[in-house]
Amino acid sequence: MVVDVDVRAQRSAATDRAAEDLFEVAVEQFHIAADVLGLEDSMRRILSHCQSELTVHFPVEMDDGSVQVFTGHRVRHNDGPGPTKGGIRYHQSVTVSEVQALAMWMTWKCAVVGLPFGGAKGGVRVNPKLLSQNELQNLTRRYTASISSMIGPNQDIPAPDVNTNPQIMAWLMDTYSMQVGYSVPGVTTGKPLVLGGSEGRNEATGRGCVFAIQEASRVLDMDLTRSRTVVQGFGNAGSVAARLMDDLGSPVIGVSDSSGGVYNPAGLDLVALSRHKQRTGSVTGFREAQDITNEELLLLDCDILIPAAMEGQIHADNAGEIKARLIAEAANGPTSPEADSVLYDRGVVVLPDIFANAGGVTVSYFEWVQALQAFPWTEAEVNERLQRIMARSFQAVYETAQKHQVHMRTAALVRGIARVAEFTRLRGIYP
Ligand code: NAD
Repeated sequence: MVVDVDVRAQRSAATDRAAEDLFEVAVEQFHIAADVLGLEDSMRRILSHCQSELTVHFPVEMDDGSVQVFTGHRVRHNDGPGPTKGGIRYHQSVTVSEVQALAMWMTWKCAVVGLPFGGAKGGVRVNPKLLSQNELQNLTRRYTASISSMIGPNQDIPAPDVNTNPQIMAWLMDTYSMQVGYSVPGVTTGKPLVLGGSEGRNEATGRGCVFAIQEASRVLDMDLTRSRTVVQGFGNAGSVAARLMDDLGSPVIGVSDSSGGVYNPAGLDLVALSRHKQRTGSVTGFREAQDITNEELLLLDCDILIPAAMEGQIHADNAGEIKARLIAEAANGPTSPEADSVLYDRGVVVLPDIFANAGGVTVSYFEWVQALQAFPWTEAEVNERLQRIMARSFQAVYETAQKHQVHMRTAALVRGIARVAEFTRLRGIYP
C-alpha cells in the first residue's frame, strides 16, 4: 500500500528493546517522524520529554489485616492541546518508562484523530488477580488519593486500560469527588452507564479497530468475508474486535489470553468461547479448538492479525514469520521498531496503535463531553460519530503516508506530531 524511505537505515542504531525500555522506543519513533517533518531542534527537545511525572508509594490494608505498600505512577506528556487523557493499568510489570511511553503515544493518538486532549497515562505495579474485590477497591482509592493533585476534569482525565474496568473508574470518581466535596463525573471516563458513562465506551476500542480494518481493506482490496482473523488478547479490546470481525463475516480462527491460545481453522464459535472463558477463566481448553501457545498464535496462517494484549509481542525474532497481510494494533506498542522494518520489507501493512486503537479515547472524549453537558447520546450516535472519525483519520494518515513515502506508523506520527507542534508554537513559552 505504501512505499517507504529506508526505515532500516534510519534505525540502524536500534536494537530490539521493546520490552526493555519502551520510552526509548517511543522517543526513537518520535525522531523518525520529526526527521520526516523537518522539526526544529527546540521543538524536538520539548516534545521528546514528558512534562510531569508523579511516582507514589502508598499503603493498602489487606483483608488479613496486614498492610502492603504499592508503587504507582501518573505521567502527563503534553497538555498543549487541552486537558491530558490516558488510561490506568494494573499490572505486575508496570514501569515508569512504560507509563512515559504510553503517555507520549496518547498525545500523538489524540492529535491523529483530532481530539482536544494531550496525553497521559497511569499505572500501578500489582497483579490484581491476587487481590480480593475489597483489596482492589482499597488500592484504587488510595492510588486515586495519592495522584489527586494531578487529575481533574479540566486537567487530566484517567480511563480504563489493562486490568482496570468501569467499577474501578467508579471508585476513582467517588474518591476524587469525596475529596473535592461534590460529584465530578468528568474526572474519569469508562464509568458505568448509570454514573454518566457513555453508551458504546466499553466496545469503543475494539469497534474503532474494526472500523480501521474496514477502511484499510478498501484500499488493500481485501474481501473481509474471505479473510481469516487472529486476535491476541481476549479482554476488553480483543474480545470486542473478535466479535465484530466475526459479525462482518471474517472467521476468527485463533484467539489467546495470558494463559495461551486456541485455534480452529474453520472459525471459532465466539459465543461458546466467551462462555468457556467466563466459566474457566481462560480461553484455553475450549473443546471445539486446539490449544496453542501465544507464540504459535502470532504465526498462524491468517489474513488479519489483531494484537490486543501487551507491548513487545511482535519483535525481530518473529516478524519474519508472521503470515498476516494486515496487522491492526488494538494494543499499545505491540510491535518493536525492528519488527516494523521487517514487516514493511515483507509488504505487511501495519495499522499503528496511535490510529488503530484510538476508538477508546475517542469515545472517552464523547463521554467527557456528555458529562460536562449532562446530556447523554444514544449508542447509534456514538458509533456513527466514531465511524466518521476513524474513516476521516484513516484517509488523512493514508494520504500522509503517500505524500511523504513513509509507512503508516510514521505517517500517523507525522500527523500527530505536526499538530502538537503547531499548538506549541502558537502558545509559545510562558513565562
Ligand atoms: P484487558 O485487561 O481487558 O485485556 C488484556 C487481555 O490480554 C487479557 O485477555 C489478557 O489475558 C491478555 N494477555 C495479557 N498478557 C498476554 C500475553 N502475553 N499474551 C496473550 N494475551 C495476553 O485489557 P484491554 O483494555 O483490552 O487492553 C489491551 C491492550 O489494548 C493494551 O495494550 C491497552 O493499552 C490497549 N488499549 C486498550 C484500550 C481500552 O479502552 N481498554 C484503549 C486503547 C488501547
